Amino acid sequence: MDQTSNAREELDRLGRSLRRQLVELISDLTLRVHLRRLSLDEPKAADPHEPLRHHYATGYQGNRPANVTAAETAARAISRLRAAGWEVTASQEDDDGILWTVLVAHRDGNSIRILTSDATPAVVFRGQTPALALHPPQPVQPPEPVRTPETLTPGYVLCYECDGLGRCPGCGGRGWVLREPHRRHRCAECGTRQVCPICQGHGELSVSSLSPYQRGYYPELDRP
Ligand SMILES: [Zn+2]
Ligand SMILES: [Zn+2]
Repeated sequence: MDQTSNAREELDRLGRSLRRQLVELISDLTLRVHLRRLSLDEPKAADPHEPLRHHYATGYQGNRPANVTAAETAARAISRLRAAGWEVTASQEDDDGILWTVLVAHRDGNSIRILTSDATPAVVFRGQTPALALHPPQPVQPPEPVRTPETLTPGYVLCYECDGLGRCPGCGGRGWVLREPHRRHRCAECGTRQVCPICQGHGELSVSSLSPYQRGYYPELDRP
């Protein structure tokens, strides 16, 4: 099995384990559970750094029963999580006059946050897996040119900027370039349009519409 499918399997395993724990907590702490809201469909890109890393992230909001206080809800969540091997810390956070009890739990790189408050029956759950690199960094494939000397339209010359490539020569047609530290940046030459800014992606230029400056790239045109 290759490295890529190993990383995906590991991420899926962490995602399933996270979901199981969230389902158990939500079922235990809230009323009228709608688990379909708890989606963990496809891993999402966690940040724009190269190589891209992916994680599962999800959220859920339910209501605690009217006869259970926020403190009781938090205490019950802490004991369930600790019994299942999670490391839990609790703190108080004031958000616009609402005092929330915030639990943060970690296990195997997964994390769960639970917010509960006496100001509202709502109990908020958030969960995410660690971010894993699913694909080894791809070597950049040199793309096939759209025009070659053999496939030029009569009356046209190969674009001097991209040499027939058609794609932006600055970024290889990706629309972004890598700069330190491994971050994607908008290509300064094409501004994410991905095509060569001189020939607009055609790979060739009409001889009759070359400017005198552009004509300077083709001395053979002015040879007698
Ligand atoms: Zn570009
Ligand atoms: Zn071009």
